[in-house]
Amino acid sequence: MNKDIFVFIEQRGGQVLPAAIQAITAATHLAVKTGGKAVAGIIGHNLGPVADRIDGTGVATILVADDAALAMYNPLRYTRALTAMIQKADPQIVLLAASFMGRDLAPRAAMRLHAGLATDCTELDLEGGALVVRRPIYNGKAFSRVHFNAGRVQMASVRPNTFAAPAGGGARAERVAIAFAADASDDRQTTKEIARTGGNEKDVTEASIVVSGGRSLKSEENFKIIYDLAHALDGAVGASRAACDAGYQPHSRQVGLTGKTVTPQLYFACGISGAIQHLAGMRGSRCIVAVNTDAEAPIFKVADYGVVADLFTFVPLLTEEVKKVRAH
Ligand SMILES: Cc1cc2nc3c(=O)[nH]c(=O)nc-3n(C[C@H](O)[C@H](O)[C@H](O)COP(=O)(O)OP(=O)(O)OC[C@H]3O[C@@H](n4cnc5c(N)ncnc54)[C@H](O)[C@@H]3O)c2cc1C
Repeated sequence: MNKDIFVFIEQRGGQVLPAAIQAITAATHLAVKTGGKAVAGIIGHNLGPVADRIDGTGVATILVADDAALAMYNPLRYTRALTAMIQKADPQIVLLAASFMGRDLAPRAAMRLHAGLATDCTELDLEGGALVVRRPIYNGKAFSRVHFNAGRVQMASVRPNTFAAPAGGGARAERVAIAFAADASDDRQTTKEIARTGGNEKDVTEASIVVSGGRSLKSEENFKIIYDLAHALDGAVGASRAACDAGYQPHSRQVGLTGKTVTPQLYFACGISGAIQHLAGMRGSRCIVAVNTDAEAPIFKVADYGVVADLFTFVPLLTEEVKKVRAH
């Protein structure tokens, strides 16, 4: 085991997940402390542009498993490729984004590598030469500190939007091809098709700005004002469960206990009361802005900025102001 930090760079169809790029920042910070280097690993097919995207971001080496059999995400094949890559890199620490793919892959790889794993981490540091992380538990109501055993590979998934993306423009990385050794046993589970829903709209879990609407929007059509603000801010649209249950938005946009957990830099709750189950999915946001006609609404207890106003008046005005500022 050397002192390097390996970071898995998740990509889909050649698009690198922003949270994976952000994990490079965590990797380079830790590499300074261990005295090793940051090593990136990418898995898929036709990965040239993906390697170009992360070159110069602080990683010293990019390991590339490029194979037609890896073109589509398959948990067993990807676990095999990732495990082989990590064994080749022999790092002290392995980082992944706490994305859907990361959540699927990390425990599988940790199991094969006999590594310790902490998921959804918001702070990563080194103590006594080993990784120490902070991670939310009980839906963000408390945090736990996890100390790793120094003698083994230490794995952690990093919560999206916890770290800023690295600047780029740094030294070029060495690229190393890693042969993918397919195994028939991996085809017990096959992926035939991946259907993307939601058109070109960003997913709430990946956006750094989320604008969410509640039951008070009253219809799917009225959600247009939420989309307008989200687009002006280059963000994603979220919704409360009440809005999704009423059919105003698909459940893929639901934020909360039985929906998705989001951790954007900026979260707008428009006409959302702030029920505990909604808070469970968004209280980890860096800055929360609430717009509500009821000054006593519970959402104001977690909001950094509170606007007591009718959203049908306030949101379009804000959108116009954002557009004006962005135009300059
Ligand atoms: C097991 C379980 C799991 C759940 N999981 C989730 C979950 O994952 N996500 C989730 O969101 N909920 C979840 N819920 C539901 C949750 O308890 C609330 O019922 C829901 O969040 C309420 O949605 P809302 O805030 O949009 O609606 P409401 O509670 O009806 O609130 C609407 C708010 O809009 C304000 N308002 C009204 N008109 C305007 C206007 N014109 N301008 C500005 N403000 C206005 C009102 O003052 C009010 O505060 C769950 C519930 C249970 C029991």
